[in-house]
Amino acid sequence: MNGEPEARTVYRFGGGVSDGGAGDRNLLGGKGANLAEMASIGLPVPPGFTISTEMCARYYEEGESFPDSLRAEVANGIAHIEGITGRSFGDASNPLLVSVRSGARVSMPGMMDTVLNLGLNDATVEGLAAGSGDPRFAWDSYRRFIQMYSDVVLGLDHGSFEEALEIAKEDKGVHLDTDLEAADWQRLVARYKELVEEEWGRPFPQDVHEQLWGAVGAVFGSWQSERAKVYRRLHSIPADWGTAVNVQAMVFGNMGDSSATGVAFTRDPSTGERAYYGEYLINAQGEDVVAGIRTPQYLTRAARERAGAKAPSMEETLPEVYGQLAAVFDRLEAHYRDMQDIEFTVERGHLWMLQTRSGKRTAKAALKIAVDMAREGVISEEEAVLRVDPSALDQLLHPTLDPGAERNVIAKGLPASPGAACGKAVFDSDTAEQRAAGGEAIILVRIETSPEDIHGMHAAKGILTARGGMTSHAAVVARGMGRPCVSGAGAIAIDYKNKLMRVGGIEIREGDVITLDGTTGEVMLGQVPTIQPELSGDFGTLMEWADAGRRLMVRTNAETPADCRAAREFGAEGIGLCRTEHMFFDPERITNVRQMILAYDEAGRRAALDKLLPEQRSDFAEIFRIMTGLPVTIRLLDPPLHEFLPHEEEEFAEVARASSVDVETLRRRAGELAEANPMLGHRGCRLGITYPEIYEMQARAIFEAAVEVAREGAPPLPEVMVPLVGTRPELSIIRNLIERTADTVFEEQGMRVDYMIGTMIELPRAALQAGAIAEDAEFFSFGTNDLTQTTLGVSRDDAGRFLTHYVEKGLYARDPFVSIDVEGVGELIRIAAERGRATRSNLKLGICGEHGGDPASIAFCEEAGLDYVSASPYRVPIARLAAAQAALRAKD
Ligand code: PEP
Ligand code: MG
Repeated sequence: MNGEPEARTVYRFGGGVSDGGAGDRNLLGGKGANLAEMASIGLPVPPGFTISTEMCARYYEEGESFPDSLRAEVANGIAHIEGITGRSFGDASNPLLVSVRSGARVSMPGMMDTVLNLGLNDATVEGLAAGSGDPRFAWDSYRRFIQMYSDVVLGLDHGSFEEALEIAKEDKGVHLDTDLEAADWQRLVARYKELVEEEWGRPFPQDVHEQLWGAVGAVFGSWQSERAKVYRRLHSIPADWGTAVNVQAMVFGNMGDSSATGVAFTRDPSTGERAYYGEYLINAQGEDVVAGIRTPQYLTRAARERAGAKAPSMEETLPEVYGQLAAVFDRLEAHYRDMQDIEFTVERGHLWMLQTRSGKRTAKAALKIAVDMAREGVISEEEAVLRVDPSALDQLLHPTLDPGAERNVIAKGLPASPGAACGKAVFDSDTAEQRAAGGEAIILVRIETSPEDIHGMHAAKGILTARGGMTSHAAVVARGMGRPCVSGAGAIAIDYKNKLMRVGGIEIREGDVITLDGTTGEVMLGQVPTIQPELSGDFGTLMEWADAGRRLMVRTNAETPADCRAAREFGAEGIGLCRTEHMFFDPERITNVRQMILAYDEAGRRAALDKLLPEQRSDFAEIFRIMTGLPVTIRLLDPPLHEFLPHEEEEFAEVARASSVDVETLRRRAGELAEANPMLGHRGCRLGITYPEIYEMQARAIFEAAVEVAREGAPPLPEVMVPLVGTRPELSIIRNLIERTADTVFEEQGMRVDYMIGTMIELPRAALQAGAIAEDAEFFSFGTNDLTQTTLGVSRDDAGRFLTHYVEKGLYARDPFVSIDVEGVGELIRIAAERGRATRSNLKLGICGEHGGDPASIAFCEEAGLDYVSASPYRVPIARLAAAQAALRAKD
């Protein structure tokens, strides 16, 4: 020792003393910090002390032992409790009993250990019996203590204790613990002590100090238990945080009918309604409420009456204490400026607060509470915006499963598109469309979907695939349409021929009902009832406040008039990506598209393109009209060719008819066009380079539509976007083509319309060459689906097979197709933004990959200085809120 005083590790609270407070969460853990805080504002907290989280680390550094300094500090802490309670630890006539509980910085429910009633032994139990005048209570407490201590501290099998209790009840011919009397508990204590000696090889510790140190060691030890390690991994909690230990005077809710214990929320955690919400039990200890042995009763009379329950509320049985409790609720809410989740105990008419923390709540409640609190003047509008988790808005925009309903989960896949849906399983899109048209609710089940399934996906209530990741076709399209989707449910075997699927020994045939939860990825057998969302006025209010705080613009990825309208209603400020190939899959059009793709020469292609031109023109005109006053980014064709090739006999025959070519020739041509790796193949601008007439037709359709709509009095703002560019010359050639086409159309029409030309950045080479590419681009839109695929070398369609494993192992923090890989893909975005702007200072920057709707990725976009994000329609509100939060956090 060098003589320096040891740093403090024990912090007292209660009885007018508070060594810590709410700001000391890292040091004292959440529970300890809030106990200290409650004590400091004068609330009735049983006195105690917290051993800091720093000691947890030290305990491990020192080979799982305690430094001497801690012993002295703990002795002081015990003296503090003794001084306030007037009881002595280990004293046979007036014993102090304590609880020993864990408490990390963040709540880890049920993960770590607790010991109650510590300080009881063969002598103090008599003192407790005499002092309380209730021997039954004293012996019951002693046996609870032996049981808990043996389990938590001594690591003995709790089964033998439970068995002994069952035998005691059988011997007496009763069923309930409450039917046992003092003498029965006393006999059981004797039996428990024998069990300890048999299994542990030593008698149950009678020395209360030995008991205490054993319990403190066990709480620190529980930080490294397997279940705590798993929980930490799942919730990204660092191992070096450690847990604190809270030692606190016991108070008893099981001392007769003027005693009780309960849990409460200061507002309703499921609706957000401003009404106390909670449960209590007369003559019970905290674990009885949680264990569900007795049915807890309502706290308030109003809640009891609403539920039509008979058992009286606390407001009715203990009106005076209830009044004190209600005052404490108000005090705590005003103090913490948030809805609180509270534990309390009433010991013979005296109220004690055992815990408070910010309460968990549903999305609906979060929204209501945030808006109400801002209106009540408790928090600012900006704070209200920061209080609601953007991802939770999904819960408000889509139907969800009735939380009370039973679920028979048969498989799990990726939560590809949120919301719940149930319907009859159908294994092909045509049948899905027909049956849906007949009024049936359909779930489309496919191994994976392709653009040919669009009509089936549209007709279905939900989509299930056995293969495919979070940016697979099914996932992207379902999100765009707002259809719930579970993708990559690998355990499902689909047999198209026999129209059935098998999973875990169950066979599901066409027409059998299944339910999907696209928010969790669960697939369930049968019908699980769903609840329809209701958008409250609070939603609009919070969105208004969010918009006031945000810098990033929010656009949408949409191509159908319905999606464009929905997105506009959700507040989209333009279209960031209109995927023109999605407009080609209408059954009416696909044949012309196939004719175009399969043509051997330019003349053949032009013949098909002539049929497509008017259709494209009217589509674009309609989108321009819906999006009046807002920019519309139209991407030229980007088809991985395999998605367009015919497969079925009938399809070949149809194309042959349309193009006057024989089926055999077509089949040969399709064979020539087949690619080993279509995602890296003849797609994107490569198609426009090799077949310029395709892009020329599309550019013509865009400009003719623009002129048509401008003539109606509302000039549109078209932005023509070129996909999959890797080199500047590629873009230069296509830019030239677009400009020439524009000039021709404007000349023909005798009218000009302003427009922009830009490119997607979705190849690493494009990001690195951004300085050169920006010479020809007025905007960049980061196509982070492909950029992730090409940067990580991970296929967006097949990744489902191993990605979950990678994420579980921590090799990727999150699925990189869901949340941007900041270090890799993010770095390329930063480089591209910087180099692009160096060339063209007013270069407009956006993102249109699926990441544009992911809150963490949006925060990255804010930081990287992009101008806008583009998200599928149903994610537009999420993006607005996430963008506001990112901007507000950056301001702090
Ligand atoms: C992308 O690659 O991020 C993108 C938006 O394009 P698509 O998903 O259509 O390939
Ligand atoms: Mg792409």
